[in-house]
This record gives sequence, structure tokens and C-alpha cells, in this order.
Amino acid sequence: MRKPLIAGNWKMNGSLALLERFGSALSGSALSDRVDVALITPFPYLVPALQTFRDRSVGIGAQTLNPAPDGALTGEVSGPMLQDCGVRYVLAGHSERRTLFGENDQDVSMRVTAALAHGLTPILCIGETLEQRDANRVEEVVLSQVTTVFDTLEPAERHRVIIAYEPVWAIGTGRTATPEQAQAVHALIRQRLAEYDSTLATDMRLLYGGSMKPDNAGELLAQPDIDGGLIGGASLKPDDFLSICYAA
Ligand code: 13P
Repeated sequence: MRKPLIAGNWKMNGSLALLERFGSALSGSALSDRVDVALITPFPYLVPALQTFRDRSVGIGAQTLNPAPDGALTGEVSGPMLQDCGVRYVLAGHSERRTLFGENDQDVSMRVTAALAHGLTPILCIGETLEQRDANRVEEVVLSQVTTVFDTLEPAERHRVIIAYEPVWAIGTGRTATPEQAQAVHALIRQRLAEYDSTLATDMRLLYGGSMKPDNAGELLAQPDIDGGLIGGASLKPDDFLSICYAA
């Protein structure tokens, strides 16, 4: 049985004050038996977040990493640094990184490999644009985003990845995929994973992301192949985030 994961991606938002509000809202919420909860914060808030949730009831994640372990790379943060601080998750391939910062599938693959090499759990983000959906290319785009990364991994490494399907047209637009649309893509991904190994397909947690809110989370999370959510906007409001966690 796959335990759901609800991960809040703050993107370039938040503050120490918001973190404190999350600390009060989530600590002792007794959620951890039923659902894993994660907060993916900007770099400056990682260590304060780790301190806020030192009971480990909430896993803390970074939004990106540089694939190199160290070096003259001003402004970058490496896997060993994140590991050193106690960070558990790291996003790879978020559509904003792909479109605004030019990361291609190869860059994403290097980041997933680096995360795994340093004991982090990569959350591999994939998803099609509206143009690609309108051109009936969802299957081709999404499966190639999975396979370019998974083909390079060892079998045991594949089992340590989490995938988040985030249709680009649903991110921050208020236009969510219908539960049926999301489920159809999740089922396709799971089928493809079964070609590597049937336990990979049954064990892999597949999250949905894109305008998930308290009022649509229940229906999305009830789909058989949706094992959690990657939440943007609603992860900046403790009450909304908590109600999504309870919906899982
Ligand atoms: P929204 O929930 O704001 O659409 O963002 C989704 C997302 O990109 C999470 O990574």
C-alpha cells in the first residue's frame, strides 16, 4: 500500500513568520500515521524549517540542487550540503526550472542522479504544455521525460524516486486537470514503470500537481493512481495545506 505524500512547494515565497505559522498548524497534527507531509522551501528557510520540525513529522525539501558536489559555482547549492543539513527531498525538473532556467531532460537527469548519490529523495517533475496536450502529445512527452531519467538509473535507484505529474497548463492557473485527466496520465506512467519492473510500478508514489486546492483535492486524491500532491499556491496557507493533507 502506497502512503500518500503531500508536499508544499513554496517556490520563491514565504518568510520566517509563515514558517512559524506552519510550525503551529502542523506540529502535533497526528497526520504522520496516514500521510507523509513535506515542505519544500527556498534555501534560506531550510535550516529553520528543519529546526521547526525537528521531530521529523514534516520532511523538508529543497527546490533544486547543482549536480556537482562542490566547486567554484557561485550561487549554487550541492547535494552534499543539503544532506549535511538534514534535508530529505529535492525537486528536479520543475516546469519553472525547465522553462525559466533552461533545464533540459539531461540536466534534470543529472540532478536526480546527484540527489540519489547524496541520500536525498528526488521528486521528479514532469508534465506537458497546453500546446503539447492540444497536439495529442501527452503520452509521448510525459513518458519521454520519465524514461530519459529512468534509463540512466540502476534498478535500486529507481525505487527511491518520487514522480510528480504537473501539467504545465494547470500550474498557478487555477485550471486543474480533471480527476479523470490526471488519473489517465498517472496510469500511463505506472504502466511504463512496469516495463522496468512490476514492483517499481506498484511501489512508486505518483503525485499530482497543478492548482490542487482544498475543494478539488479529495476527488483527485481518490483516484487509484494518484498518491499525493505537489501543492504550490495552497501551500502558502496553513489551513488550506492542512485540509489537503487531511483529504489524502
Ligand atoms: P499551483 O498549486 O500553484 O498550481 O503550483 C503547482 C506547482 O507547481 C507545485 O510544484
